[in-house]
Amino acid sequence: MFENLSNKLDRAFKTLKGQGSITEINVAQTIKEVRRALVDADVNYKVAKTVTDKIKDEAMGRDVLIAVSPGQLMVKIVHEELTELMGGEKKDININGSPAIVLIAGLQGSGKTTFTGKLANFLKKQGKGVMVAACDVYRPAAIDQLNVLAEQVGVEFYAERESKDPVQIARNAVEHAKKTGKKVVIIDTAGRLAVDEEMMREIYNVKEAIKPTETLFVVDSMTGQDAVNTAKAFNDRINFDGVVLTKLDGDSRGGAALSIRAVVEKPIKFISTGEKMEALDLFYPDRMAQRILGMGDVISLVERAQQSFDEEEAKRINKNIRKNQFNFDDFLSQLEQIKRMGDIKDLVGMIPGVSKMLKDVEIDESAFKPIEAIIKSMTKEERQNPDMISGSRRNRIAKGSGTTIQQVNNLMKQFNDMRKMMRSMNKMAGTKGGLAKLG
Ligand code: GDP
Repeated sequence: MFENLSNKLDRAFKTLKGQGSITEINVAQTIKEVRRALVDADVNYKVAKTVTDKIKDEAMGRDVLIAVSPGQLMVKIVHEELTELMGGEKKDININGSPAIVLIAGLQGSGKTTFTGKLANFLKKQGKGVMVAACDVYRPAAIDQLNVLAEQVGVEFYAERESKDPVQIARNAVEHAKKTGKKVVIIDTAGRLAVDEEMMREIYNVKEAIKPTETLFVVDSMTGQDAVNTAKAFNDRINFDGVVLTKLDGDSRGGAALSIRAVVEKPIKFISTGEKMEALDLFYPDRMAQRILGMGDVISLVERAQQSFDEEEAKRINKNIRKNQFNFDDFLSQLEQIKRMGDIKDLVGMIPGVSKMLKDVEIDESAFKPIEAIIKSMTKEERQNPDMISGSRRNRIAKGSGTTIQQVNNLMKQFNDMRKMMRSMNKMAGTKGGLAKLG
């Protein structure tokens, strides 16, 4: 994500590299490049002009003598201004209330329903009782979709399939959430393909009726300038509290993130980076600015890992490793944990330096598929006692998993190498006075 912009900024800064000081002339050139990069990334022209004017003032005002290098100084200034442009501080969703009512608005296809599921998942993981409600009276498929997501993340689902009155459904949903003691109720509403009066009236009426604690506007970041216009239209009518930017995993040029905040003056609160329920991140303006500048986003990566990893399971596997009993069940469980962390390429993109290197490399989960198939074709006994997997068993496993005997052999070899390494680490830890050191 944002690759175009960060590559272009890279080039803009190159013109400054090797120059001893920031002069009016070389800064003007760089500023022009930065502005062009922003506009190319779909940033609203007026916004791009304001931000680059500020960058220029800042740069010219700096004492060039103390600057590490003009290029580095410029990166810092651009980073500061981009952070500021996206709101400065992180802004949290407000879920104070009993129950807190979160209203989700946006165009059809923007990712509202997916986000509703993700937010439910996110809040449930914080230990909150959550209910989701479908208020789309036009598309039964939208109701089914939310129902499936609710089941998947394990939260209560509310709908009234016979009703044609979204306002009443929303009211009833809130009542139901109250009665059942939920902490948060999330109301997914109907969207349309484009902004129209009827949709606006409906969402306005729902909002008036249930007086949400928080109204979030969901927008597809791939729609560029349209995203800004749609945000403005919704905000003029329903005065939302925050923005959710979706599909930032795609080919989005990211300009929406930069302009929406500046144009509607409402904070972006979440970003959605994939179709999986875990692919949701809080929006940190400074981290996003870092990401735009190609500095990676290690903090988000770590947080996502913490959320997705099952502590208890990790402890159990660690114990097996220490007892030299690491087996294929543990291996499979680890693969599943990694997969749960969301789209792998997206994660890799968060590591500084790596995003650029890997920009054209395809990484996907299909690499895991044969491994999983092989392990799943093993018997329970074989998984727990890998040493018993003889030649004839390997043949059977290859057939059962639709792989080749070479693939099975390779996996067995990798697995055994891994175990050998674990054993020698255990030994080392042991000679240093206790296995506990490994944990
Ligand atoms: P709604 O009509 O606004 O409720 O939109 P949906 O939630 O049904 O999403 C529309 C499509 O976009 C679906 O195919 C989703 O799986 C997909 N989608 C939603 N959010 C994301 C995202 O962050 N990244 C990607 N790649 N796809 C998404």
